[in-house]
Amino acid sequence: MALNAPAEGNPGWALWQKALRLIPGGGQLLSKRAELFAPEQWPTYFSRAKGCRVWDLAGREYIDMQMSVGQAICGYADPDVDAAVRHRIDRGVTTTLNSPDEVELAELLCEVFACAEMVRFTRTGGEALAVAVRIARAHTGRDRVAFCGYHGWSDWYLAANLVGEDSLRGHLLPGLAAEGVPKGLAGTALPFEYNHPEQLEALLKRYPGEFAAVVMEPIRQYDPAPGFLPRVKELAAEHGCVLIFDEVTAGFRYAMGGAEEYLGICGDMAVIAKAMSNGYAMAAVLGRRDVMSSAQRTFISSSYWTEGIGPAAALATIKKLRAVNAPQHFWRLGEQVHTGLSELAARHGLPIKVLGKAPLPSMAFDFGDETQAVSTLFTQEMLDRGFLAAKGVMLSLAHDESVIERYLSAVDGTFAVLARAVARKEVRSRLRGPVAQSTFRRMA
Ligand code: PMP
Repeated sequence: MALNAPAEGNPGWALWQKALRLIPGGGQLLSKRAELFAPEQWPTYFSRAKGCRVWDLAGREYIDMQMSVGQAICGYADPDVDAAVRHRIDRGVTTTLNSPDEVELAELLCEVFACAEMVRFTRTGGEALAVAVRIARAHTGRDRVAFCGYHGWSDWYLAANLVGEDSLRGHLLPGLAAEGVPKGLAGTALPFEYNHPEQLEALLKRYPGEFAAVVMEPIRQYDPAPGFLPRVKELAAEHGCVLIFDEVTAGFRYAMGGAEEYLGICGDMAVIAKAMSNGYAMAAVLGRRDVMSSAQRTFISSSYWTEGIGPAAALATIKKLRAVNAPQHFWRLGEQVHTGLSELAARHGLPIKVLGKAPLPSMAFDFGDETQAVSTLFTQEMLDRGFLAAKGVMLSLAHDESVIERYLSAVDGTFAVLARAVARKEVRSRLRGPVAQSTFRRMA
């Protein structure tokens, strides 16, 4: 693959400027905003994609190390998933009658996830989390939710940022503004930090009998400290609240039954979404029969939750992931990425740490005030070498050892540029566009 020309005449950037006039924020997902990568240089739009390759509007080819925030878990335009989708399209996508695929999918998910005895479907992760929280509230008759981590855009979650200026600024989720979230929800979503069961315990004790749910990812960038997750489970049970594991990103990467299976712990409910259907919209709320049955005590219903493409894509995706033992693939390649990046950072003497477990590796840059500028230079140099790359790496079945070798060799060249630029204080002068904006910080 030819090295990409410098980004002048980037039609994607021009279209992004038009989008900003027509669409508030330019697009629908914060993590795809061009300003977060390398403003003016990020190609922003694709013309086609196949496997782990994406072509931009100018026809330039890239290897994608982000895979649409992890949605394309099998790879773009996967022949098996797309054949299942075409099959569904040819026979009608949505009719007055329901798609039988959703029953088969519910059965399959109950087989794969330990906590699952019943399933409800939505089409996005944020929606599914909102449904899970609604069911937990209906089940317990309580309002408050304790959470840690990121769980989408809905009111139940953003309510956390209604509580006082200070929590918004320093402690929690800077950047996630809560304008438009009813102020009456203040105090209904209360955060605790990963690996800090004493914080959860303090919350549960401060408002005895008031918590409906504890919502968290079982794992993110840190291993659970010994005893942390069992303690969370014990506290949730002691206080009568529903433990909801968010597997939207983790699901199918650590183990087929989610990070929960890998960690050997099971919640009362789990939520899966963007890793289950290879880019077709699909999400599911799974859980124990008694908890899930409480969905019948409230109103949870939407027309498009009955369309047939999502279930068809999810069935084909999950069957494929299982047939090829995808989690093993993610552990093996992730290890290659993890070790490779750590060695390269050390060899170039860069203050870059590799975080996360192998299936979801990511880098943390620590260059003080220059961190954002160095991250931007990283993306710029990787673009020049033909990679869509930022600090997180999302693998797919379409990545293999040789792709990872090429990626690591591009990172080697890029790190050499970074090391020289940092030493000579030339980071900003080497950038061909503005410094990227920083995104919101996940609460670890
Ligand atoms: N929970 C987690 C852990 C996520 O990573 C995400 C998406 N990044 C969501 C919830 C929200 O899912 P969606 O973007 O599909 O609404």
